[in-house]
Amino acid sequence: MSDGTPGSQHDALVIGGGFFGVCIASYLVRQRGLKRVCLVEREGELLTRASFHNQARVHNGYHYPRSFTTAFRSRVNLPRFISDWPDAVVTDFTKLYAIARRNSKVTSRQFVKFCREIGATVAPAADQFANLFQPRLIDTIFEVAEWAFDATVLGSWAAKELEGLDVDVRLSTRATEVSPASPAELRVTTVGPGGTDEVVSRLVFNCSYAGINQVGGSFAGVRTGIKQEITEMAMVKVPPALSRVGVTVMDGPFYSLMPFPSRGLHSLSHVRYTPHSSWVDQPGLDPYARLDGYQGGSRAAWMLRDAGRYMPKIAESVHVDSSFEVKAVLMKNENDDGRPILVEQDAAMPGFFSVLGGKIDNIYDVLESLDAASL
Ligand SMILES: Cc1cc2nc3c(=O)[nH]c(=O)nc-3n(C[C@H](O)[C@H](O)[C@H](O)COP(=O)(O)OP(=O)(O)OC[C@H]3O[C@@H](n4cnc5c(N)ncnc54)[C@H](O)[C@@H]3O)c2cc1C
Repeated sequence: MSDGTPGSQHDALVIGGGFFGVCIASYLVRQRGLKRVCLVEREGELLTRASFHNQARVHNGYHYPRSFTTAFRSRVNLPRFISDWPDAVVTDFTKLYAIARRNSKVTSRQFVKFCREIGATVAPAADQFANLFQPRLIDTIFEVAEWAFDATVLGSWAAKELEGLDVDVRLSTRATEVSPASPAELRVTTVGPGGTDEVVSRLVFNCSYAGINQVGGSFAGVRTGIKQEITEMAMVKVPPALSRVGVTVMDGPFYSLMPFPSRGLHSLSHVRYTPHSSWVDQPGLDPYARLDGYQGGSRAAWMLRDAGRYMPKIAESVHVDSSFEVKAVLMKNENDDGRPILVEQDAAMPGFFSVLGGKIDNIYDVLESLDAASL
């Protein structure tokens, strides 16, 4: 934890204590041998933003029939994630992918072919699961191998990992400006419980996800276009018939129902209703402030009503509350729904790296990219 020394000197500063920031801080100590690593997080705890408020799916490729690379990388990364965080991975449910008869960008045949191409197992669902769906609207139902993660377990791991590695973690602390301190060093201004402080560091990793373009100072933002979305996931208590089931209806204006292990509920997202509003990200337009000021009400009732047309049992679910979060996606993947990583070295400040993961298991792609960087 912080020693409160003003203007402290570090080998690396990580901005953002989500899953990516924590993993990168750990990587810098364990793999790159850096001794003095500091991490600042604006919230009071680690992993409370997008790394908690998501659909908790450990991707295994199925979700990306329009982006072979993302599907393939998910297949490569899933076994590594399971091996590195076995306690966080939840497998005690059956995951179904259902292909809609109308408005789907993928047919059942294409989906099976795609699964074979990426080497993912896929089998016709057993009757007990197939019977959950409305055959007039659903063409085929497949049983697949896709799991969920428990974000609370990841959060506990994160705190222990950084403590064990002696990383200087400063919670409730926001990075507000970065500028060159010398030809080889950067100065980051932070605002925390003790007031304004400065950290001088050779390397800075901007892992602030929705806040990626808001760091300020000499940082003019990333070159890659980013879209921000205010998203709603309805947290629901499903009827017993669905308690050990996850469902994704492909591939269009449909829904996904996934166990949300850290709350013992299911999360329900809907392509039509989950995104409430979106904008092109730019410096000075703080997404967190936008979310805080957002007044839109829940669309959970619409999500449940529409999902109930495909799967009548889901309409018996009780909406407990909703999780609202800002989702940051690369604009270039709007059409194919791919989730590549962004790792950008700033042109004017070579020690400043911006990282955006896209999905949890992409951490391996990010770390491979950092392996190749001379730090
Ligand atoms: C609705 C939704 C559903 C999703 N579903 C899935 C899914 O099912 N599976 C999957 O793999 N991925 C999913 N994702 C994506 C996944 O959540 C993200 O890829 C991942 O959490 C990003 O981790 P992160 O550490 O980059 O971001 P975050 O966890 O958001 O961490 C960034 C941190 O930076 C902090 N921060 C921001 N600005 C500053 C600053 N200036 N100073 C200090 N701290 C700052 C924030 O408080 C935050 O804690 C989903 C995302 C959303 C929003």
